[in-house]
Amino acid sequence: MGLVFPLASSLTTSIQERNMRIIKNTSVYQTKKLKKLFGLVHYLIALREGRLPQWKQLRVVVRNGRNSGRAFYPMWIGNNHTGWDMFLSLNSSPNINYLSRIAQLFAHELMHNYGYKHPQFRTDPLEPDQIDRIKREICEHSEELK
Ligand SMILES: [Zn+2]
Repeated sequence: MGLVFPLASSLTTSIQERNMRIIKNTSVYQTKKLKKLFGLVHYLIALREGRLPQWKQLRVVVRNGRNSGRAFYPMWIGNNHTGWDMFLSLNSSPNINYLSRIAQLFAHELMHNYGYKHPQFRTDPLEPDQIDRIKREICEHSEELK
């Protein structure tokens, strides 16, 4: 196979494409590190669900607080006024398992972004081997995200 050069129009499209964004973060965790973690969680969920169609436009807000989240589906229809598609509230727990809580919470809200409702998916969507992979590839402990 020879090298295939993309057409000018598709090049323009790829330049204009934006990545998933954490548009606001007032948690104790670093935006860059959370983004890396969320990127891997999406990758793992996408192995089963396929890529979230609006992944590149997903706008996430993270704040400091009790472990909770909210997410919209569909993302764009009628919800633009909020300015975000997923809202996560994360505390600064030094709990050794909090990394997996953050990952599971993001995965949970992401399932809502896919359009699933509660009876349709497991509360903690990630499998134990996927949590292990996250710990290998991102970090062992949530303290390292700070
Ligand atoms: Zn839920």
